Amino acid sequence: MRALLDLTAEDFHAWLQAQGQPPLRARQVRRWLFAGRAESFEQMTDLPLALRQALAAQFQVFGSRIARHLRSCDGTNKLLLRLTDEQLIECVLLLEDDRHTACISTQVGCGMGCVFCASGLAGFERNLTTGEILEQLLRLRNLLPDEQTAGMNPAARLQTAGMNPAARPKTAGMNPAARLQTAGMNPAARLSHIVVMGMGEPLANLDNLLAALDVATAKDGLGLGARHVTISTVGLPAKMRRLADLKKQYHLAVSLHAPNDALRNQIVPTNDRTGIAAILDAADYFYAQTHRQVTYEYVLLRGLNDQPRHAEELARLLQQRQAHLNLIPFNDVEGLPYQRPEQASLTDFVARLRRRGLVVHVRKRKGADIDAACGQLRRSALAPRGEQALTLSRRGAEDRREERE
Ligand code: SF4
Repeated sequence: MRALLDLTAEDFHAWLQAQGQPPLRARQVRRWLFAGRAESFEQMTDLPLALRQALAAQFQVFGSRIARHLRSCDGTNKLLLRLTDEQLIECVLLLEDDRHTACISTQVGCGMGCVFCASGLAGFERNLTTGEILEQLLRLRNLLPDEQTAGMNPAARLQTAGMNPAARPKTAGMNPAARLQTAGMNPAARLSHIVVMGMGEPLANLDNLLAALDVATAKDGLGLGARHVTISTVGLPAKMRRLADLKKQYHLAVSLHAPNDALRNQIVPTNDRTGIAAILDAADYFYAQTHRQVTYEYVLLRGLNDQPRHAEELARLLQQRQAHLNLIPFNDVEGLPYQRPEQASLTDFVARLRRRGLVVHVRKRKGADIDAACGQLRRSALAPRGEQALTLSRRGAEDRREERE
């Protein structure tokens, strides 16, 4: 059975026409999905019964099932979704002050093979469809209790949708954990940001991703601002240029991880086909076309790319660019030989870059107790049961201290 979210608007109109239904039915169904939070056709009570039955006979509202739902003590929620072909993907909801960020996947597995990444360990399986990308957003959004309509049934909820979606949440100012504890009382409802940083290389599945983001940023979709969407890439220059030419206001994050080709070839194997210079050129082009500052991501691996000479080289590379640098101290992954940098190395690395005038941010560690780093939950779900239990208990005992420099 097909997932409704995989149908293009044109396909759905054609299907409705074949059923003898007027075009307005498409708008009604869309409102139910995006504003009414319906998860079944039965809930779409202003549609004729015969249409609801015809829809239910041919389509599913969601094609995936929630295989696991983990909640972190810091408010992070992680879903492991089982797709119709039994493949597993992950998506994460991050709560931080007034931000509700969905981190989504674009592929099953990944073919880029970054040596520190759990997602790439089992290789690439397939691209996600547009519907599967959208479904992650809806499932994560639906974890947020509806501010306006908590406790209402779906029909009443739909009637109030659009009354005051930007209203400031009553829980503003609470920390995420406290907010989560009040879930069900009256917390905020809307996703505010999307980061396309989950499993897979987003630009390798650009068409399906763009179609999903078109819906996510449409007023009658999820209504997010394009400037609140970040697309990450390991660096596919031709696709970066194509994205730039679209002149959307999406934010681009380039995963650099090394300041020279010799080291980057070791950490990101696909680099030997592109090289850092071509990636930086494409990033500069993106900035020239969109006037959106590019973020460079740099995972710090102890002893490998976190030394003073790497910081100096990185500074030289980015100094003249409109760049923002996001440093990500590595989170241990079972079975991988890499380690988080020492605190002293991290502090020194940051200081050297800042002395060269770079804007540097050290990413907060979120969801450490629920395997929230990309691909780890899927990997533990695919592992034999004994290994899975070991992985989860080891992660739970980890230091959850957050760092911000
Ligand atoms: S870090 Fe990203 S691009 Fe690299 S293997 Fe993992 S998912 Fe793929």
